Amino acid sequence: MQERPLLTKSALQHFATDRSYENGTGYYIKGAVGKVIRDGTVFTAYVQGSELYKVRLRIANGRAEKHCSCAYAKDSLCKHAVAVALAVIDGQYALIDAKPPVQQSAETEPMLYEVEDLLAKADERSKSAFLRELLAKNAELRELFIRYTTQYPTTLSA
Ligand SMILES: [Zn+2]
Repeated sequence: MQERPLLTKSALQHFATDRSYENGTGYYIKGAVGKVIRDGTVFTAYVQGSELYKVRLRIANGRAEKHCSCAYAKDSLCKHAVAVALAVIDGQYALIDAKPPVQQSAETEPMLYEVEDLLAKADERSKSAFLRELLAKNAELRELFIRYTTQYPTTLSA
């Protein structure tokens, strides 16, 4: 089954100001778009800008509609939404519940973006419990941990 392109770059340019399009392109190129998940016509991803933004983009019938956690108030697409749309145009998305493709390059796998806000929210106790669990499981990590603590002892004792 052949799928028609969801959106083209020239169509995308209609839905964004020149400036948003340009900045969004910059974000996309430097790898600021996290993993994009497709659920029907809705694409969701985190974009690392001055903060981490969550973007939901609905793409249907060649049109794109955004919900982004940034303060951009216009109806047109913000730079974060443009960045996600470019990833979608390039086919850089996974279907919801689908396993990620086996051959995934490092840039399309920025899991750090997704855990960063969780890390900020988690309390010290659950973080150190998690660390303990990891260290118990993995000898290589134990070695890294010992090396890290002997190299930067002050950051840990603070
Ligand atoms: Zn935005």
